[in-house]
Amino acid sequence: MRAFFIGRFQPCHLGHVEVLRDVLKEVDELIIGIGSAQESHTLENPFTAGERMLMVSTVIDELIEDMLKRGEIDRRKKVYVVPLEDIYRNSLWVSHVLSMVPSFEVVYSNNPLVIRLFREAGIEVRKTKLYKRVDYQGTEIRKKMIEGDEWKKCVPDCVVRIVEEVGGVERIREIANRDV
Ligand code: NAD
Repeated sequence: MRAFFIGRFQPCHLGHVEVLRDVLKEVDELIIGIGSAQESHTLENPFTAGERMLMVSTVIDELIEDMLKRGEIDRRKKVYVVPLEDIYRNSLWVSHVLSMVPSFEVVYSNNPLVIRLFREAGIEVRKTKLYKRVDYQGTEIRKKMIEGDEWKKCVPDCVVRIVEEVGGVERIREIANRDV
């Protein structure tokens, strides 16, 4: 079975990792949509689609290694990472997604709008669990980056490295108009 999961991954955090772990246990192949791909350099969406693709692909490689080691999966799973731009007409969004990614049988999500739109289109949606939603939340992590609080414990080490490589903290603080 091939499944679809979409997120903005601004940035990819440990909540995403735990959900992806759950999903990978259940599916043969997974398509991960990088949502709002056209957005970057804003407070809501500081990272480019390319930076987020790198975060997610690196996280997936490490996650699959870890799951194989723990015996949570018995073979490598095929994962596609696809950037998806928003379209400003929700009623057409599912068709837009279907036109951009390989076919899939089921969607995994906890985003109410995503769930609603896929269910209305007659596509099966499985709700995912929430993990430490207070800490593992893009908005909170971006706020911590701006305010100089401890954000690194909320994301995998490989994401810390990518954020540092692209000067992500300086970028978001400049956008927020704060001194580094
Ligand atoms: P996100 O990165 O915030 O979340 C992605 C997924 O991870 C969600 O299912 C969320 O519930 C889950 N998640 C987040 N934190 C978690 C935690 N701590 N524990 C467990 N799960 C957690 O991304 P998002 O904003 O939900 O992404 C949806 C994308 O779909 C956006 O880019 C949005 O613009 C796009 N979209 C576009 C249209 C349109 O263009 N008309 C319509 C619908 C959705």
